[in-house]
Amino acid sequence: MTIPASFVISLDTELAWGRINDPELPFYLDQCLQASDIIKELLELFDGFEIPATWALVGRMFDEKGLEYALSEFYPDIDLKELTADNVMHNNSNSAIRFNDVVDLIKRTTAEHEIASHSYNHVLFDTLERDDAKLAIQDIEMQKEAFKNVNVKPETIVFPQDKIGCLDAFNQAGYKYFRGKLKEQKMDNGVVNKVNRQLAHVFPLRPECVLPQQHSSGLYELKTSLLYRIPSRGIKRYTSMQVLTNRAIIGIYHAVESGMIFHLYFHPFNFGYRRKEHMRGLKRILGIVRELMVQGKIEALTIKNAIEKYVKTSELESITDE
Ligand SMILES: [Zn+2]
Repeated sequence: MTIPASFVISLDTELAWGRINDPELPFYLDQCLQASDIIKELLELFDGFEIPATWALVGRMFDEKGLEYALSEFYPDIDLKELTADNVMHNNSNSAIRFNDVVDLIKRTTAEHEIASHSYNHVLFDTLERDDAKLAIQDIEMQKEAFKNVNVKPETIVFPQDKIGCLDAFNQAGYKYFRGKLKEQKMDNGVVNKVNRQLAHVFPLRPECVLPQQHSSGLYELKTSLLYRIPSRGIKRYTSMQVLTNRAIIGIYHAVESGMIFHLYFHPFNFGYRRKEHMRGLKRILGIVRELMVQGKIEALTIKNAIEKYVKTSELESITDE
C-alpha cells in the first residue's frame, strides 16, 4: 500500500441549480442565498490549512451567458422572470443562481485547488444517455465553452446527483476522471444495511475508504466516503454534528492505517443550515488532517491528483457493483 494515505474533499458547487426545477426550492432558498458567502469562507479555511479541494462548478452559475442561454431546452417549465425575481436574484453578480467571479476567487487562493465540472445545466446523465443523448452532448458542449471562456480545462466530471452516464462522450471531450457514488459497507442482508444507515446518524460508524477504479471507457472513478452535512429537512435535521464529525475523523485514521483515500464531499449550500456548527466541525477535521500531514502520514489531494497517485503505483480497486 502507498504510504502516506490521502484525504480528498470535493464540493458540488451549484447554488440553487440542483433544485431549480424542484417544487421544494423555496424551502432551500435561504441556504442557497448564503452559498456564495459560504464558498468564500471555505476558500479562506482551506488556505489557512493549506488543503486543496476539488470544486465542481455548474456552468450556468458563472458563465456570462448562463441565464437565458438555451434554458428552455433544458428546463421547459422554468419561467425566467420568476427565476430572476428578487428572492432568487439579489443583483446581477451574486444570488441563488449566479456567482460571476467564483472561478476568479478559486484561482486567487494559495491552496492548489482543482476546478472540475458539475455540468452546465445540472442535468442527469444516466437518464439523458437513454432518452435524449443529443441533449447530453449539448450540455457537454456548453460546459466546454463556458470553462474555455474562463481559461479552465476540467479533467474531472462530478455528475449531478451522482447519476453516472455518457462516459464515452465525456472521454471524447477530454475528461479523464469522475466522482463515483458513496461507497457503503454492504452486507448480504438488506435489512441490516438499512438499519446500519439509520444507526450512522446516532453512532459514529466508520465510513469506507476508497481507491480509484478504471472503467472500460478509459475514465477513472473515485467513489466518496462520507457526505459531510446535516440535512435541513426531516427528522435527520436533529442529527448530532459531533457524531458526523467523529465519523469523518474515524475514517481519516482508517485511511492512515490502510494507506487508502478518505473522500469527503458536500454542497456549499448545505452549510447554510446550522452554519456555525458545520464550519466548526469542518475546521476540526481539517486541523486533524493538517497535523497528520505535518507528521507525513497523509496527503491532502484533489480528485485528479489522488487518482494519479494510485494509478502510478497500480493500486486500484476492481469494479464489482454497477
Ligand atoms: Zn449537484
